[in-house]
This record gives sequence, structure tokens and C-alpha cells, in this order.
Amino acid sequence: MSTDFLKLANIGVQKLHPYQAGKPTDELERELGITNIVKLASNENPLGLAQSVKDALQNELAGLTRYPDANGYYLKKALADKYSVNIDQITLGNGSNDLLELIARAFVSSCHEVMFAQHAFVVYPIVTQAIGATAVAVPAKDYGHDLEAMAEAITANTKLIFIANPNNPTGTFLEQDALKAFLKKVPSNVLVVLDEAYFEYAEPARRGNAIAWIAEFPNLIISRTFSKAYGLAGLRVGYTISHPEIADILNRVRQPFNCNALALKAAVTVLNDEDYLLQSVALNNEGMEDLSAFFTDNNLEYIASMGNFITVNVGNSCDKRTGDSVYQALLQEGVIVRPITGYGLPNHLRISIGTHSENQRFKEALTKVLNLES
Ligand SMILES: *Cc1c(COP(=O)(O)O)cnc(C)c1O
Repeated sequence: MSTDFLKLANIGVQKLHPYQAGKPTDELERELGITNIVKLASNENPLGLAQSVKDALQNELAGLTRYPDANGYYLKKALADKYSVNIDQITLGNGSNDLLELIARAFVSSCHEVMFAQHAFVVYPIVTQAIGATAVAVPAKDYGHDLEAMAEAITANTKLIFIANPNNPTGTFLEQDALKAFLKKVPSNVLVVLDEAYFEYAEPARRGNAIAWIAEFPNLIISRTFSKAYGLAGLRVGYTISHPEIADILNRVRQPFNCNALALKAAVTVLNDEDYLLQSVALNNEGMEDLSAFFTDNNLEYIASMGNFITVNVGNSCDKRTGDSVYQALLQEGVIVRPITGYGLPNHLRISIGTHSENQRFKEALTKVLNLES
């Protein structure tokens, strides 16, 4: 008799579905036999790797026979200096996804509830289910977090709350006052992860500095990444800033070499490359204006976004047109975007902001696919 391995898996894991990543460019190239594909599907930085990083990595290659620094000292030091925190408040991860999982594994058991908003980042339910905990998805308000409803949904079993600001895939943004009012309502034994993967893209005047709140709310964990505005998605490096005791606990479960040597080097280098960050943000602002105006001109409803992507409603019930059908049609034009049916938004597509010419290609393809006038 053959073994049913699925039955051997943990209950939570049995019901899990693997994360659906954006379609890789090479895959579509093979399928269509064309080469000039535009990928606007995974919120990657369209600027390309910073020159400073390319140079630094070249010099790092010779050392790759050695294990990396298990403490990531230089990167932690650079982050601590930049954000005026102590080095013992920082935890490094193999991308910030690594840390989101680490937090759940370190603090949450199967008897606990983990809360997040409807249409929030899919990694939150995945890490919750993997440990067999109960996921509580609180209905969204105007596509974003309904913080009042979330505060009311806290129970004695709530252990962890994930909040993405700006949120992915909707791009919605929570103002500092609202967030702070929420934190005041959360019991101090409930952890709140503020996932600021798109922090660098958010308007400086409005994004504030939640790191400074840790003194008042020691249960607050700030999570950031080098995958987006810093352009290192392929190298995998993210970090959390928290109370030192939380960092100490994460450090106990963390794999000792979860950040590789190239990732550490690249992250320190790009953190000091202010020009690269400025260029990334400027290019994003330009593209965001361009695509927003395009959607407005064509009467396509979009969600105002503070991230490096924009989510637009392309559905049409008369034509049986959905996000998935438009996604498929755009693929035929060599443009990869992100359908978000899995996020409960079957009529929307999420478009990562690209370079000027990539945005142009997207607009042309969408014009063709939707028979738009312009
Ligand atoms: C992209 C993204 C991340 C970053 O993931 P990495 O593992 O650091 O690449 C985290 N949270 C959200 C909401 C994201 O969209």
C-alpha cells in the first residue's frame, strides 16, 4: 500500500496552496517564441541593479568559499546608524518574507489567531496556516485596512496582527494618526507587524517614522525590505526593527546563515547609494502619474497607490471580462501583469510601475486588448 503523504503533513499544511509568483519572463518567452517581453508583475525595481552594487559584488566573489557573517554586523550597523536604533533591535532575513514567517513560528501556536485585512499580502495567511493557527481576515474598507473593525476583532486568542502599509496588492495607505490610534487599542501581549515593504515609495510627509513608536509600543515590529526601492529582489534581504527582546527571540529560531554574503554586501552598498534610491522613487512617481492619468482618461477605475504598483479594475460583466481574462490577453501581447483573483479581487489587475518604455508598452497592449479609444 502506498503512503498518503498529504495525510502525514500538519493539518494546516494540508490545506495550503503554494504561493503563486508572477510569471517569469523566460517562461513566456519560451511559450510565445518572442523576446521583448515586459514584466510588470512582481513589483520589482525597473531601474536595474545599482552600479555601486555591481562593483561591490565583483569584489565579493573571491570570498564566497567562506560562510557569511552570521550576525550581518556591517549591514546591521549601517541600518542602526541610518534609523537611529540599537544594533540589537535589528533582525536580518532572507527577504522580509523570511522574517514574517520567523515571527509567526517564534510566537504563534495552533491555538492562536493571526489577524490581517482582506486583500492583504498573501504571505500572511500562508505563514499562519503553515503553523496550524487560525487566520482572521477582517473585511476591508475601501480596499484598505479597516483598523476600527480590526481592533474590535481582537480576542483573547489573538497573538499576532499583520498590517502592510502601503498595502499590497491594493496600494492603500494608512495615515500615522490612524495607525497610532489603533496601536493604543491593541493589548501589549499582542504583536503587531507593520510591514513597510514599500516605505521608501510612500510620500515622505505622510509616511512618518513608525520606528520611533517602538519605545511607546514595544509589541510593534517594523518590517522592511531591499527587494523593492533598493532593487535587490533576487538577492533576498529584509530586516525587522523591534524591541531587543523580540529580536533576541527571533535570533534563536533564525537559521544562522539566512542572509548570504552577496546579499549582505549588496544591501550595505545600496543603503549608502542615495542617488539610486532617489532615482528609483522619481521614476516610480513619474510612472504612477502616467498610468493613473491613462486609467482616468479611459474611465478605468483604479485604487490610488502609495507603492510601486497600481491596481485597476478591468472587469466588465456584459463582456464577461475579468482580471484573469485581460491578464491572459495581455500575455499574448508580451506583457505580464498580475491577476489578483486570489486576493478576492477578480476584476482587478495589479500593474507594477515600469520604466517609461515599459509603461508605454503596457498602455499600448491594454488599449488593444480592451479596444480603448486612445
Ligand atoms: C514585496 C513585499 C514584501 C517583500 O518581500 P521580500 O521577501 O523582502 O522580497 C513584503 N511584504 C509585502 C507586503 C510585499 O509586497
